[in-house]
Amino acid sequence: MSEIRSFVELVQSIYGTKDFIPLHEPRFDEKEKRYLAQTIDSTFVSSVGEFVDKFEAAISNYCGAGKAAAVVNGTAALQVALRIAGVNNKSEVITQALTFVATANAISYNGASPVFVDVDYDTMGLSPLALRNFLNEFGELRETGAYNKSTGKRISAIVPMHTFGFMCRIDEIVEIANEWNIPVVEDSAESLGSSYKGKHSGTFGLMGAFSFNGNKIITSGGGGAIVSSDPQFANKAKYLTNTAKVPHAWDYYHDEIGYNFRMPNLNAALGLAQFEKLNEFIESKKTVYEIYCKELDSGSFRMKEIPVDTEWNYWLFPVEFQDQESKNKFMEYTNSNNVMTRPIWQLMYKLPMYENSQRDAQINTKLLAERIVNIPSSAKKV
Ligand SMILES: *Cc1c(COP(=O)(O)O)cnc(C)c1O
Repeated sequence: MSEIRSFVELVQSIYGTKDFIPLHEPRFDEKEKRYLAQTIDSTFVSSVGEFVDKFEAAISNYCGAGKAAAVVNGTAALQVALRIAGVNNKSEVITQALTFVATANAISYNGASPVFVDVDYDTMGLSPLALRNFLNEFGELRETGAYNKSTGKRISAIVPMHTFGFMCRIDEIVEIANEWNIPVVEDSAESLGSSYKGKHSGTFGLMGAFSFNGNKIITSGGGGAIVSSDPQFANKAKYLTNTAKVPHAWDYYHDEIGYNFRMPNLNAALGLAQFEKLNEFIESKKTVYEIYCKELDSGSFRMKEIPVDTEWNYWLFPVEFQDQESKNKFMEYTNSNNVMTRPIWQLMYKLPMYENSQRDAQINTKLLAERIVNIPSSAKKV
């Protein structure tokens, strides 16, 4: 217990307060207020405005993607990226059960079914080995694409998720996906600022989806973006999320059923001010992470190691426990002492809507679900 008590004291000293300390809170200063005031003064608060263009350009330049389309949230970004990748109501999409529910929901919104394949223990993201095994057992490559022999459905996409900003073995996943002629859409909601072997999250597959929700590394209030190194896909995303309106000076003509998923200019103003501080946030979070590592190097829990080849954005810090009992004790004590800690998500196949989804043995997924807890990870207050 004294170990947990000193953990609570450590967190309080890092953030300089004994008040409630959340897992992740945003940091704002005058810049956000300035950009927001500018937006209001301009009257362009809604779906048209210069901050949307600036924010999209900032995100795509930073990631080295060809282009970005800013949208209302990360879930919508994933939903539309999957539709563009060809996912429909006759499809299956391979993803991981160790994720936030939005990943699976975005698949469902397209009428498709998720299939859950195991993650790697070190990265906590989709495992290339498990993916290969699944496809070797159930996949059948036909002229029109890859099919699941056990269901007869087309496997229309693979969605790896970069958990807490750790990068999965995305190069191997893309290689396997190419062999099977299946497009990859990265769920990069948590990994803006992370890269793998020098290349940014979201730029490995056909498209990547970011989130700028309030708990993410930068926030636009609510928001998301679809990025792609091929501008064709980002343009298509822009058009579909803008009601599929065919550009014309005055005519309202729409040639398919699109969405009203554009990011408002007001949100883009907030997002841009935040984006301009992304590197500072990463630096500050790294400092906090290193304090934790130094102080928590022994005992019943330890910081999960950053996987090789990942340049981490330090979004949310995972701590690894040896057993469930010590984990539960830790969560009880910290949460009743004003320090928020949280277990990893309930696995997708434990939720009623996905309990019948096809899945493999989920060996690492289950171990991680038992052992991983997130601890306060905000940047320091300035
Ligand atoms: C946050 C998140 C999303 C969805 O983003 P929203 O902006 O909240 O819709 C999707 N996938 C993962 C893994 C996330 O963490």
